[in-house]
Amino acid sequence: MKAELVLATGNLHKVKEIKEILGKTSYEILSALDFDLPEIDEDQDSLQGNSFKKAGIVATTIKKPAIADDTGLFVDALDGQPGIFAARYAGEGCSFADNRAKMLRELAGETNRKAYFATVITLCDADGKIVGQCEGRMKGKIALEEKGTRGFGYDNIFIPDGYDKTFSELSSEQKNEISHRKEALKKISPIIEKYFENLDL
Ligand code: IMP
Repeated sequence: MKAELVLATGNLHKVKEIKEILGKTSYEILSALDFDLPEIDEDQDSLQGNSFKKAGIVATTIKKPAIADDTGLFVDALDGQPGIFAARYAGEGCSFADNRAKMLRELAGETNRKAYFATVITLCDADGKIVGQCEGRMKGKIALEEKGTRGFGYDNIFIPDGYDKTFSELSSEQKNEISHRKEALKKISPIIEKYFENLDL
């Protein structure tokens, strides 16, 4: 039987993005969408802590190795906020659009619009033990207004360094070539392959 890896996310956008980036693998990729999983509270104080918590809970619940990512958006002029609280920036239960609107309001008139995304990905074995943890970053700036229709989260207002377009205006292939998640996944990909190779011994 082919080895199986579970992506500890129920976000369809992310599942698609992660599968595209990992490309052809020696193992089968399943996601939280394939299982009935408990809601996981992201209550740790770091991206490392939250991604480890998510991967560990999913791995031990399903009894299969799992990877989980946690991403934050760190904005210079806001002293690094929203940081690890990027999903709940505009309050509990807010939408992506609410978060973007708050960000544009907070940065109104601000000339320093530097920001970066950071993603930490953790691989846990079926017992919830950490096998590897990797980080990827994408530097850029917050746009003056929303642009583009693709993607999710802050994509419509984030302009990656070296581009004059938001992530939303780029194709998914272009975004996946340079994104924080791609960098973290590219780093963890050989660790996952090696983990499954060693399991076969
Ligand atoms: P998560 O930890 O991956 O769920 O990310 C937390 C929040 O960061 C999400 O709710 C999004 O608002 C934002 N986010 C994460 N990744 C991206 C991305 O690739 N583009 C834009 N926003 C993102």
